[in-house]
Amino acid sequence: LTSFPYNQVLVLGLAKSGAAAAKLLHKSGISVRVNDQQAFEDNTEAQTLHNEGIEVVTGGHPLSVLDGVDYVVKNPGIPYHNPVVEAALEKGIPVVTEVELAYMLHKGPIVAITGSNGKTTTTTLVYEMIEKSKRPVALAGNIGKVSCEVAQHTTSDETMVMELSSFQLLGTETFKPEISVFLNLYEAHLDYHKTMEHYGQSKANIFRNQTSEDYAIFNADHTEVLKLSEQIQAKKVPFSLCSKQPDGVWCDEDSIYYKDTLVIKRNEVILEGEHNLENTMAAVAAALLAGATLEGIREVLSTFTGVKHRLQYVKEVRQRRFFNDSKATNVLATQKALGAFQNPTIWLAGGLDRGQSFEGLVPYMKNVKAMVVFGETAQKLRDFGNQNGIETIFMVDNVKQAAEKAYRISAEQDVILLSPACASWDQYKTFEERGNMFVEAVHTLE
Ligand code: ADP
Repeated sequence: LTSFPYNQVLVLGLAKSGAAAAKLLHKSGISVRVNDQQAFEDNTEAQTLHNEGIEVVTGGHPLSVLDGVDYVVKNPGIPYHNPVVEAALEKGIPVVTEVELAYMLHKGPIVAITGSNGKTTTTTLVYEMIEKSKRPVALAGNIGKVSCEVAQHTTSDETMVMELSSFQLLGTETFKPEISVFLNLYEAHLDYHKTMEHYGQSKANIFRNQTSEDYAIFNADHTEVLKLSEQIQAKKVPFSLCSKQPDGVWCDEDSIYYKDTLVIKRNEVILEGEHNLENTMAAVAAALLAGATLEGIREVLSTFTGVKHRLQYVKEVRQRRFFNDSKATNVLATQKALGAFQNPTIWLAGGLDRGQSFEGLVPYMKNVKAMVVFGETAQKLRDFGNQNGIETIFMVDNVKQAAEKAYRISAEQDVILLSPACASWDQYKTFEERGNMFVEAVHTLE
């Protein structure tokens, strides 16, 4: 951070990104104070920073942490009604997330990706496509490392591909990607944003500072996104499942096209589901604009089996195909998964009981021939299946048993799909642990 114009920075909230930001600022010779809610005794992150000579204030958020401060780097999870954040904004002090620091540091081009759903999948695809095209590229965000850490090691010809949430984008001021991607907008995080309008606007920060030199890729099939796209100053690159896009990415029954160029035949793409077709189209546009080759893009699309736990293709055993969609912790995600297959499907579901209704799944169950249910919601799901015409339903204790049971009752050409529609915490620490147990079980089948 050579020309950083501030003298005393407050890093608010530690976790992963806060600690990285504090270290970076300290290393750059900028005076930094860290403030975290958790008490010092239990706060290993704060202890480490203290040992490195950084001032830490722990155990609460007293207003005095703002003394002398002219810049605040806030953890994306800390709400704007936090008293310290409110006081800083009242005084006119900039409050940003570490994404802003990453932007100041990184000298090369940036591809930034946001949306309610599909961020990780699209970000991974873009990264892989650029890499397969043998061009320098770095990955930052949820799946990669913290952005400001990544940006410390990039070169000026290296593209940084960033996955960004609405919380991260809210805290940007000058952030300007050369290529932005706006995937979709679904109702989410309304506890934090209060209104859809605020949620949409915070995501629209992704193209706020872009100019006519830059590119903005957006979903032309989503009314809400289309409305926000009116604010775009950059060159517009729409993508659509429904209609030909002379300036963007589109598809017909057979193939995916960028403008008039055939990119790939649809039957060569491994990823399943319409939602993944959207992610694929967005990724194609971003990768091409970032200098990827058609060969590189085709190679990735014909080999990429999905990000782990997101409708990930696991393997085929005796002509039965297994998919791990453990990340599907709600009904919306499971709708996408069930809707992705034409083959007879054995659906594995269950988990934490939040009193949720499964009714929204009914229109997507046409191909479900059997269910295997587990966890707190097992009984509920069994009743739900029975009421909706599924005759074969088994209750088991966990995903391992579910995989084995499903295999035993399956026939050739069946899809066996773990898409729980419930959180994992009744039985597993995380959805990753649940997915890993399933994948392990599948690998023992023969
Ligand atoms: P994110 O990083 O935004 O959470 P992921 O790529 O991890 O998104 O995908 C998470 C889940 O969201 C997937 O398992 C799928 O159910 C759903 N999903 C992915 N892409 C889309 C999309 N384009 N539209 C709607 N839902 C999607």
